[in-house]
Amino acid sequence: MENDSKNIIDRLRQKIVNCRLSIVNCVVVVLVIAFLVWFSLPKYPFDAPYSLVVTDSSGNLLGAKIADDGQWRFPQGDSVPYKFRECIINYEDKRFWHHPGVDLLAIFRAAWLDIKNGHIVSGGSTITMQTVRLSRREDRTFFEKMIEAFQAVRLEVRYSKDEILQMYAAHAPFGGNTVGLETAAQRYFGRPAHTLSWSESAMLAVLPNNPSLIHLSRNRDALQAKRNALLNSLLESKIIDDETCFLAKQEPLPTSPKPYPQAAQHLVARIAERKSNYGKPVRTTIDFRLQNRTREILARHARTLRTDGIYNGAVMIMEVNTGNVVAYVGNTDAIEGRDDGNDVDIIPAYRSTGSILKPFLYCAMLSEGELLPNTLVPDIPMQISGYMPKNYRLTYDGAVPANKALARSLNVPAVKMLQQYSGEKFIHILKKLKINSVDKSADYYGLSLILGGCEASLWELCGAYASMTRSLRNYLTHNNMYSPDDYHLPNFYYYNNDNHSKSADLDAHSFMTAGAIYYTLKALTMVERPEDESSHDSFGSDRVVSWKTGTSFGFRDAWAIGVTGNYVVGVWTGNADGEGRPNIVGIKASAPILFDVIKLLPRSHQDLQMPYDDLVSVTVCKKSGHVATENCPQTEEMLVPLAGVNTRSCPYCQTIHLDPSEQYRVTADCESPENIVHRKWFVLPPAMEYYYKQHNSDYRVLPPMRPDCNRNADSDLPIQIIYPESNAKIFLPKGFGGERQRIVIEATSRIAGNRLFWHIDDRYIAVTQDIHNISAELPAGRHLLTIIDQNGNSVSRRFEVIDK
Ligand SMILES: [Zn+2]
Repeated sequence: MENDSKNIIDRLRQKIVNCRLSIVNCVVVVLVIAFLVWFSLPKYPFDAPYSLVVTDSSGNLLGAKIADDGQWRFPQGDSVPYKFRECIINYEDKRFWHHPGVDLLAIFRAAWLDIKNGHIVSGGSTITMQTVRLSRREDRTFFEKMIEAFQAVRLEVRYSKDEILQMYAAHAPFGGNTVGLETAAQRYFGRPAHTLSWSESAMLAVLPNNPSLIHLSRNRDALQAKRNALLNSLLESKIIDDETCFLAKQEPLPTSPKPYPQAAQHLVARIAERKSNYGKPVRTTIDFRLQNRTREILARHARTLRTDGIYNGAVMIMEVNTGNVVAYVGNTDAIEGRDDGNDVDIIPAYRSTGSILKPFLYCAMLSEGELLPNTLVPDIPMQISGYMPKNYRLTYDGAVPANKALARSLNVPAVKMLQQYSGEKFIHILKKLKINSVDKSADYYGLSLILGGCEASLWELCGAYASMTRSLRNYLTHNNMYSPDDYHLPNFYYYNNDNHSKSADLDAHSFMTAGAIYYTLKALTMVERPEDESSHDSFGSDRVVSWKTGTSFGFRDAWAIGVTGNYVVGVWTGNADGEGRPNIVGIKASAPILFDVIKLLPRSHQDLQMPYDDLVSVTVCKKSGHVATENCPQTEEMLVPLAGVNTRSCPYCQTIHLDPSEQYRVTADCESPENIVHRKWFVLPPAMEYYYKQHNSDYRVLPPMRPDCNRNADSDLPIQIIYPESNAKIFLPKGFGGERQRIVIEATSRIAGNRLFWHIDDRYIAVTQDIHNISAELPAGRHLLTIIDQNGNSVSRRFEVIDK
């Protein structure tokens, strides 16, 4: 008996000890669990990879790329749209705003329903618990459900209800590999979620718990029934009224999923290269409407261009004042069954520049006082170290005002100008314009640099045209100061204004002065526009457009870039693989696209304004465009860039002395001074004169010296050889039959009707009158050309024919 009671006491004691141990155990376990729960929840519970989502400046989707795990999962938005929020709360978790993450009432109700029905009909999970579940993606066990409940409470502590709803909306499944509300809104309705109707929002709200319903063909009726039940429930809760409910139920379900937009696929691909762009929507500066209309214009022209064997093209539009790109069409659309390199984004690609750099040279020379706007530039055959630049139309004008040479894109004057300015200095200017692709030495490019001997991208070129225009505009608003910040490349990321980095100090000087930029843009308004085939009107003739075309060697690249109002438009056409075609010419292939795109743009009152404070009035020679001398017959006052006062004065005009009939020139040796008539005369050197007088009927040739008067030797010789130049090395290619091409030699005489006798290597070749050119077949080696006229005047010149 005693033993029994002793045993009982021992057992009891043992139980108490066990019990104490298990309380300690329990507390430890609870603490460990609490600790684990607390720290097992990362700051942000989701670590899923997201799709790349690119929008325009107003949030319209331009394009998207699938996430790394093969899901379409758009990044989380800033808010959940009101209609979807009401729908999802009504459908999933009516007491969402009031529970602490776990809804005991709902759990009891669910348990009661489950018991009553004998199987699980309701989960009793809150939106918060479902959010946790979406982030954990674990099997649904009882233990897991406990953790979800714990973490749901934890989530409620750390985040606001709105934030939890955003997380849920962004990660909920909407059928197939469509994850998140924004993704689903685009996928099923092709619109952002905030634009969805009650009916559309309700349809999406029933999906996360029944994602398979989205098989739009198979489960159509079931999905519609669920949607309508939810709409009825919204009506009961007085969230919508009768009429809204009735109309919403009439809306049909979407018929099929929509492809994600591909409005700017090359830009999206460019943005996709930066991995940091995934995770939140990338808002670009693109204007969705302009982007699409620009694509349509390019597509329309592409159909015509294809008939000429031109398969690629690119267009970009940017704003001058911000540098923001508003349209970015990197290539033409692919045609089914063909691979024409349409994936290549042409906009950043380096292509041969043709003439598109010429305005920068003109502007730099005006800025530095190497030219006045209308200064005559020689336009005659020339040869520089074996290189013979030709004008596009293969004719010469003798001499052309620099602004017209630019507007007409004449090659010889451009080369002469670069020769005067220096290639090295010009490359330096291009760097300041952020055309960084021209990165080799001046020797490497030679003088062909100005004719397309280098490469640049549409991106850089549009940026440079915009920078110059911006600098002129800001000069006028910055109280005659320049900002070095005005020169930058275009940008397509959307920045808030307060994000801008510290701006550089304003400067009273710039490498391109306001006056020079003004005259450059003004010269470019004179470029002859293409004819509109339908109306035979000049394209956009009612707008001020400063623009320039370019065509590369071998007809591989056709450029057209225009500045109008607050916009720069750039167009390139050609073949991505570099194949040349005869119609790959700036004015034919690209200019019509340029002017069609310009028609899309709002008109501006910001057209070219004269920067008076950067201009100075100078008396210039009307004939030569140089600063006038006392010998210039006609002069005019002109506003020129400040540096222009230092330019060379007119080298052409002279005061000549005539006999009383004014038919002959005389000197004091052969005419009495009181009979001599003094006249101011514009005289070009013979080679320039030869071509100039053919295009300028008012040009008056210098009257001949009266026969009885002494003649000054050389400068007055009535014959001059135009081509070849002295000591020229000439390569004459051989034809298919092995015969060498003939050389064409040109000379000119001041005396009308003069007969010239031609000799090569002291052998008589021909005689000419009026038109003085001959062609001859010559072997390789050195040759001597001698021309003697009927009066015995003679000129000679050595040159060499070389084998390559
Ligand atoms: Zn003059």
